[in-house]
Amino acid sequence: MSVDQDIVPVAQPVLGPEEEAGVLEVLRSGYLSLGPRVPAFEEAFASRVGATCASAVSSGTAGLHLALRAVGVKDGDEVVTSPFSFVASANVALFERARPVFADIDPVTLTLDPDAAAAAITDRTTAILPVHIFGWPAELDALRRHGLPIVEDACEALGAQHPDGTPVGGTGDPAVFAFYANKQITTGEGGLVTMGDPEMKVRIDSERNQGRAPNMDWLDHDRLGFNYRLSDIACAIGLAQLGRLDDLLAGRARVAARYREALAGIDDLTLPCEDHGGRRRGWFVFVVQLPRRVDRDETIRALRDVGIQSKPYLPAIHLMSFYRERFGHREGEFPVCEDVAARSIALPFFPRMTDGQVERVATSLRAILEG
Ligand SMILES: *Cc1c(COP(=O)(O)O)cnc(C)c1O
Repeated sequence: MSVDQDIVPVAQPVLGPEEEAGVLEVLRSGYLSLGPRVPAFEEAFASRVGATCASAVSSGTAGLHLALRAVGVKDGDEVVTSPFSFVASANVALFERARPVFADIDPVTLTLDPDAAAAAITDRTTAILPVHIFGWPAELDALRRHGLPIVEDACEALGAQHPDGTPVGGTGDPAVFAFYANKQITTGEGGLVTMGDPEMKVRIDSERNQGRAPNMDWLDHDRLGFNYRLSDIACAIGLAQLGRLDDLLAGRARVAARYREALAGIDDLTLPCEDHGGRRRGWFVFVVQLPRRVDRDETIRALRDVGIQSKPYLPAIHLMSFYRERFGHREGEFPVCEDVAARSIALPFFPRMTDGQVERVATSLRAILEG
């Protein structure tokens, strides 16, 4: 890397005086957890996506776990889901001794293929867990036809929109968001479940807090629970982030549009699909599929050599060693997912990325692929 060039990171959060002031206020109030910022953040988030209610939790993973429990997934059940996702969306079924049953993805949208999902359903299936991968809203209408509960992994999809104009998170089915530092909004670590059923919120609120009912003191608990709480410090950051959400989403959309122009015309390079069918992507990452002739890991190294971070994104879950060993998965089971997973890299992508940085990434990638 030449000394005069800064490293272009793969992700970078936007944090400012509003987040700092929010955190300071919490510190000075003395209410660091189970204080007023939690319901304030939940209500602001729910209203943003048009959901009846929301429960803030300690991570996206925790939210997916509690949402699966809330729709009744239990020991011995099967949950149909996508192998092209972050590993957490499959792991959560295992937390309940249920089995994640994978179905292949659509080659264009990279979300669960509804026909493949239909073929994977058995009489043990008790839920479908579609993933709005890379912020692209999955085909919920087709998946709903089976009459099974749906839990949406919306961890990458804040700002996305379904064909009927409903924001992702506002359908009434439990939908789970995540606030790790690379997501559309961050609280450091954190997550949140939106839902249409207030009874479900009562259950999730209790299970995130050791199984305590709202009217009980800490000496008694009426069900099994976890410590999946989100602190008031985190919720204060979340409130400030929500206040700048429009800016953050507009920034990501701008960077995506710049990438599209700057990467146009590279032979066999597949860019993220454009909005179609009434669906709108909530931009989260800019993932390209490299031409089949190119070595993906070499490309990542070559980019790193010129100061540009990128990463393989995402590896197929069924081919991870834990899943191979536990379930005997092997290559060839989900050919679309495997092909896409082997060729995909996430390029640097964040709201304040400059046009110059996008140019630099695009020019470098073009030179590596065409050179
Ligand atoms: C980020 C993410 C999660 C989990 O989020 P954590 O907050 O890290 O637990 C789950 N699914 C997908 C698709 C994600 O991108």
